[in-house]
Amino acid sequence: MKYCIILRDNDESKKIEDLLLSKIKIEYDDKNPDYVIAVGGDGTIIKAGHKYPNAVIFGIHTGHLGHYANYSVEDIDILIDNINNNTFNIQNLDVLSAEFVTESGNIVNDFAINEVTIVSPLRTLILDVNIDDDFFERYRGTGLCISTPSGSTAYNKSLHGSVIDYRLKAMQLTEIAGINSTAYKTLGSPVVLSYDRRIKLELARGYEVPKDVFITVDHISYSIKDLKCLYIFYDNKKMKMAYNKPEEFINRISRSFLISKK
Ligand code: NAP
Ligand code: MN
Repeated sequence: MKYCIILRDNDESKKIEDLLLSKIKIEYDDKNPDYVIAVGGDGTIIKAGHKYPNAVIFGIHTGHLGHYANYSVEDIDILIDNINNNTFNIQNLDVLSAEFVTESGNIVNDFAINEVTIVSPLRTLILDVNIDDDFFERYRGTGLCISTPSGSTAYNKSLHGSVIDYRLKAMQLTEIAGINSTAYKTLGSPVVLSYDRRIKLELARGYEVPKDVFITVDHISYSIKDLKCLYIFYDNKKMKMAYNKPEEFINRISRSFLISKK
């Protein structure tokens, strides 16, 4: 087994890296690691998940405990012991697939740990939203966000989406500044859909609509000049997160958003 370390760029993370390098007994390999230790915040863990999609991720959150990190700075000896003796557990998080097709026939595939968004910051987007094979609504506004349960506390929460229990298998569709008037009508509320649904977003035809949009998967953004449609679905992709002891979802939410310990 081989491992590597990904750091957020700060002094605390670098000190932790030195400790890990001196105490972990398995080989270091940042080309093809089985285990990746991500030291920093949720953002660091998500970047590790994109860079090494097949590895088991060990998240150490510096500062406060994050949503994805299962180890705190005080737990480092436990993490080292878990790796050296192969005594950790694995939590599989569902990851959303995004497939976008351009008018010229290019197809791009990527995945999101938190969310997929489609946005047009300057001109109003007009999108036909289809769920499975059924037309759902014609959306007008800045954009749409489709999040995983573990991503529901990120951008989705700022959009007044629901916080979803990580044990549920679902995806959530949330509007980003949707326009609602007597002329334009969307559902307006976030929609939580079953895991096996497939969302298809298509630029509406017959309007002078911007064809250049941004599609984001977590921190990664694509600028697309001639989008035709975007599909969002679960394809059995998982992010494998290592943990020592399970932490209940309720506790994770309350310590992140409700109880200030420091
Ligand atoms: P980032 O700094 O990595 O993330 C932005 C903030 O969201 C950080 O404080 C991060 O925590 C936190 N975060 C990330 N995932 C979370 C989760 N599942 N639950 C709760 N908090 C979470 O920013 P970035 O590099 O631009 O990455 C893009 C991410 O930013 C997206 O995935 C999106 O969720 C979020 N975003 C939010 C808004 C908004 O809320 N208005 C707008 C755009 C994007 P750490 O400090 O622990 O890393
Ligand atoms: Mn954080």
